[in-house]
Amino acid sequence: MVNYEFWFVVGSQLLYGEEVLKTVAERAEEMAQHLSKKLPFPVKYKVTAKSSDEINEVIKEANYRDECAGIITWCHTFSPSKMWINGLAALQKPWCHFATQYNREIPNEEIDMDFMNLNQAAHGDREHGFIGARLRSARKIIAGYWQDEDVQERLASWMKAAAGVAFSKNMRVMRFGDNMRDVAVTEGDKVEAQKKFGWQVNTWATGDLVREMSLVTEAEIDALMDEYKASYDIATDNIDAIRYQAKEEIAMEKMLKREKCMAFSNTFQDLYGMEQLPGLASQHLMSKGYGYGGEGDWKVSALTSVMKFMGKDSNGASAFMEDYTYHLVPGSEYSLGAHMLEVCPSLAEGKPRIETHHLGIGMNEKDPARLVFEGKAGSAIVVSLIDMGGRFRLIIQDIECVKPIMEMPNLPVARVMWKAMPDLRTGLECWICAGGAHHTVLSYDVTAEQMTDWARMMDIECVHITKDTTVEALERDLLVNDLVWKLK
Ligand code: MN
Repeated sequence: MVNYEFWFVVGSQLLYGEEVLKTVAERAEEMAQHLSKKLPFPVKYKVTAKSSDEINEVIKEANYRDECAGIITWCHTFSPSKMWINGLAALQKPWCHFATQYNREIPNEEIDMDFMNLNQAAHGDREHGFIGARLRSARKIIAGYWQDEDVQERLASWMKAAAGVAFSKNMRVMRFGDNMRDVAVTEGDKVEAQKKFGWQVNTWATGDLVREMSLVTEAEIDALMDEYKASYDIATDNIDAIRYQAKEEIAMEKMLKREKCMAFSNTFQDLYGMEQLPGLASQHLMSKGYGYGGEGDWKVSALTSVMKFMGKDSNGASAFMEDYTYHLVPGSEYSLGAHMLEVCPSLAEGKPRIETHHLGIGMNEKDPARLVFEGKAGSAIVVSLIDMGGRFRLIIQDIECVKPIMEMPNLPVARVMWKAMPDLRTGLECWICAGGAHHTVLSYDVTAEQMTDWARMMDIECVHITKDTTVEALERDLLVNDLVWKLK
């Protein structure tokens, strides 16, 4: 895993003389060191840029260095923007324009023209902002004082989204079998996905997995069983079914590691040579950060892994989800999300139980073991990535997860219950209007702003359904988007 960092590039020019430039460089270093202590990734001060050549050099290096996940620019003084054009036009990494100022206050007694010439971010950042607008650059603009916590939180949030871009560029997805027959929304252009997101999506035969399973040893299964026992309550006598899931998990993880894949998909229609659809196996792999998509849905699988990475070191709760059924009682309207088996235990409130039940769908010879639990309460988002033909659209919806309002004792799968924004009916109409899938990534961790930032950096369409969204406004936005993306 690459240890990502962000480069701090400070704009200036030669007009001010040595003394001012020395002060700018010292302060930039001080700010980078301070921010590094507060932010999830180090900020490395690289250069006080005074010429086109210096800017070209630092941007060429940023593009080339794997550890550089993005650049943060700021203009302590005035930095004429024509010297930024060639560099910024070549920039291939995420860019944040940090509009800040070294000093918090205007010093009443001290301020004179020398002070003004040294501390003119208000002036310099506007010139710098113009060239970003003129170049139509996909930049993030964050304004505020660099020592303020809320400003640092916004920088941290953007950094995680930018790291998600870097992670995405290395994403490889292992598909066992093709998509579920006849399903449209899980399809997509894999060539375009690689061009936009960097995702390498390829297929492996189920037979390859079955052969790999035949090589798994009893000792390997015993070791994973110990891990299951430590993490979950075993609520079945059918230990053989759990051991079979362990064998599936070990075989899949070996193949994923061998091929450097961080996400996988499979389908219940293609289990030839296997006794059970991987349930517990897929769930435990997801808890380790692997993305998963059911029914061959490689888009949601890759996106799950990217969002898990973006939330790394926070609560980490991002998971493959499916809208299943509604509770349409007036005043108590909820969506119930689940999947046939595969819900990630990172969403669980309390300790998940391992259960075995009959599964009628697919070619299951034996009852598959799976984790059963209730999802946590709290604010979250659901995100869907669809292929509109010629472009991808990311749809984000704000939701409020609740403790399930009933026990559902005969439901043999993990379940999450939520209120969609702005309300179930409007939210549903908006979601359907935008073409959002039944498969989503649900996250208590990654925010709508981060996913919007990610979509901007990836240069894809993005819509966000919030508590304020109306169907009329959304329809208008989608119509405009359609025109815009045809012109792009
Ligand atoms: Mn599904």
